[in-house]
Amino acid sequence: MEQEKSCLFCKIVNGEVPSEKVFETSKVYAFKDIYPQAVEHYLFIHKEHTKNINSMAAQKPEHLEDIFKAIKEFTQQTYLETSGFRVVTNVNKNAGQTVFHTHFHVLGGEQLKGFGV
Ligand code: 5GP
Ligand code: ZN
Repeated sequence: MEQEKSCLFCKIVNGEVPSEKVFETSKVYAFKDIYPQAVEHYLFIHKEHTKNINSMAAQKPEHLEDIFKAIKEFTQQTYLETSGFRVVTNVNKNAGQTVFHTHFHVLGGEQLKGFGV
């Protein structure tokens, strides 16, 4: 798996930086966000590094399938599919992307605000 030495989420995949795992496959890793924005807030990442969703779609489109299948499995194994959840991915400055390893926030566990709710 291609990784970036200085990338925080590559270090999390390697176990160099500790994290609270909630789901894992051979390709995808999911863990609790350190600053949760909802009762349930997880980050789904591919074990192979890309920097954002557009890079992933261009360079490794199969990763999108890996990630969304993992989200499907996880949300069906927990109560999140039934109660409802949101998937968010930030790209660059105006969206507030702070970690440049493609990641998908999965939020739920309470009524989420915004987006017409
Ligand atoms: P972004 O702002 O790039 O979309 O999301 C990065 C997310 O990573 C943020 O929600 C932030 O709380 C989370 N985060 C940053 N550093 C760490 C860390 O060391 N461990 C974990 N578990 N989450 C982190
Ligand atoms: Zn990385």
